[in-house]
Amino acid sequence: MYLAGVDLGGSYIKAGIVDSGGKILAKGQVATMADQGATAVILRIKALLERLLWEQGLTFADLQGAGVGIPGSVDTDSGLVKLAPNLGWRDYPARAELVKALKVPVIVDNDAHVATLGEKWQGAGRGFASLLMVTIGTGIGSGLIINNEIQRGHFGFGAELGHYKIAHEKRRCHCGGRGCLETVASATAILRTFREGLACGCSSLLKDSPALEARQVVEAAAQGDVLARRVLERAVRHLALALANISLTIGPELIIIGGGLAQAGELILEPLRKHLQAYLGVWQVKPLPLVAAQLGNDAGVIGAAYLALSENCNQDM
Ligand SMILES: [Zn+2]
Repeated sequence: MYLAGVDLGGSYIKAGIVDSGGKILAKGQVATMADQGATAVILRIKALLERLLWEQGLTFADLQGAGVGIPGSVDTDSGLVKLAPNLGWRDYPARAELVKALKVPVIVDNDAHVATLGEKWQGAGRGFASLLMVTIGTGIGSGLIINNEIQRGHFGFGAELGHYKIAHEKRRCHCGGRGCLETVASATAILRTFREGLACGCSSLLKDSPALEARQVVEAAAQGDVLARRVLERAVRHLALALANISLTIGPELIIIGGGLAQAGELILEPLRKHLQAYLGVWQVKPLPLVAAQLGNDAGVIGAAYLALSENCNQDM
C-alpha cells in the first residue's frame, strides 16, 4: 500500500506519493489559490494527487490513507481546522471534506507538527525518541516529540515556541500579542531590525543592496558587518533563551533547526549552540545536539505520509 502526503501552504499545495519505507515515489505542487474558497482548495488537492497517482500507475484505491499538514490551529481528533489565517479558514471541517473528496481515510494536523514527524521518520531526527524541531522562516514554527509521540497538548497546538514571550520586547505579533519570540528572531524580524538599523543611519555592507533577505544579513555578519552582527546576535540570543527554557522543561535529546534561515547552516547554528550552552550551564548534564534539518521542503510531505501510516487513519469513511 501507498500513502499520500500533502503539505498545504498559503501559497502552494505540495504533495507526494510515499511508500511505507518513507521514499517519495512522485511529488508535485500547484498554487493554493485560497481566495477561491475552501472547496476549490480541496478539489485542487484531489486533482494533484490524482495526477501523481496516475504517473505511478496507481489510483486512490491503492492508498492506505492521506495525511495533510495545515498552517494553523488544527484539532486532529475531530479533523476541524479551528483557524488557518493564511487560508482564510475558521472552524472548517477539513478532514470530513477531504474524506468526501478523496474517498480514502484522512488525518490532518498542524504543518509544524507534520514537518517534525517527517524529520523524525526520515531526516535529522532518526533514532531519537524525544526532540524539538524549530522552523525559522517568515514566522517561527515548532513541533515537540516526547517518547515518540507528537505533543498536541490540551489546546491542540502543542509547543508554540514562536509565541514564547520575550517580556521586554514590545513589537506587535501577527497573533495579536506583544513580545513574541517570532517578532525578534524570525527571518522577517531579523530583516526588519536590520532595516531599522539602516534607516537610523548605521553603515553596512548591504546599505545599497536592493533585494534584501535575512540570509544576506547572516552572510554579512559572517563577513564582519557590524550592524548585521548586532542584529543577528540579538535574534540568536533570544532564540537560544527560548530553547534553553524549553530544554530545561522537557529535556529533549535533540534540537533540529529548519526553515529558510537554517539554510545559512553553521553561520546560524554555531552561535546558537554557543548561547544555548551558556544558558544551560551546568544543567546540560548530557550533550544536547543542535543540528540542521535534512529534508528541506520535503519534510511536510514525508511527515504527512508518516501521519497517515502511524495513525492508520482509523476512522469512519
Ligand atoms: Zn505571537
